[in-house]
Amino acid sequence: MSFKVIRANILGENDNAAGDIRARLASGGVFMINMISSPGSGKTSLLEKLGPVLEKNGIRFVIITGDCFTSRDAERLDRLGLAVVQINTGGACHIDARLVDASLRDVDLGKTDLVIIENVGNLVCPTDFDLGEDLKVAVLSTTEGHDKPVKYPMLIRKCALAVINKTDLIPHTDFDMDICERSINELNNKAKIIKMSCKTGEGTDILFEWIKNGIQKKKESAK
Ligand code: MG
Ligand code: ZN
Repeated sequence: MSFKVIRANILGENDNAAGDIRARLASGGVFMINMISSPGSGKTSLLEKLGPVLEKNGIRFVIITGDCFTSRDAERLDRLGLAVVQINTGGACHIDARLVDASLRDVDLGKTDLVIIENVGNLVCPTDFDLGEDLKVAVLSTTEGHDKPVKYPMLIRKCALAVINKTDLIPHTDFDMDICERSINELNNKAKIIKMSCKTGEGTDILFEWIKNGIQKKKESAK
């Protein structure tokens, strides 16, 4: 039997769109991060904590939040008065660059310092899609177990920052912080690790400083 294989160049098209986005953000000096995690790791809760801190410090930002079906996350962030664009992927398990491009069309990048993408909760394919971001952020949580980095090394290898969220719940779990941190370091010794709790606020200030530093560097490189 002989047959022809036709493979859609999905990633090729995606990368073109990502390149366009990256060029626009570079000329405007806009810093963009892509937050990737499993469902329920607390990305939206983290943004509910972080958003008001960014606002208080005069950082102009927009959150692009991806969900398969609902607008629940966007509604939560909107309730806090945060600038948010909802992407409904219609069941698709990741955001692609063309969706980000469409979301950014309504954003005045000249008046924006920071774009935060809250990707669809999924540790596998979002890692493969370049969205034109500067840096990827992995969000892990203590309730998922300390073996997440080893089980999903693709994301850890590509992230610049790993947030270990829900530290307040450690006493109720078998989570071993040393093992988790060691696995992250072994996979990617450049990744910064921030321990966070959206209940106690632990780590919010460190995350804010990390983002502020990213914005400053991006603005300097745009000059
Ligand atoms: Mg969410
Ligand atoms: Zn996917």
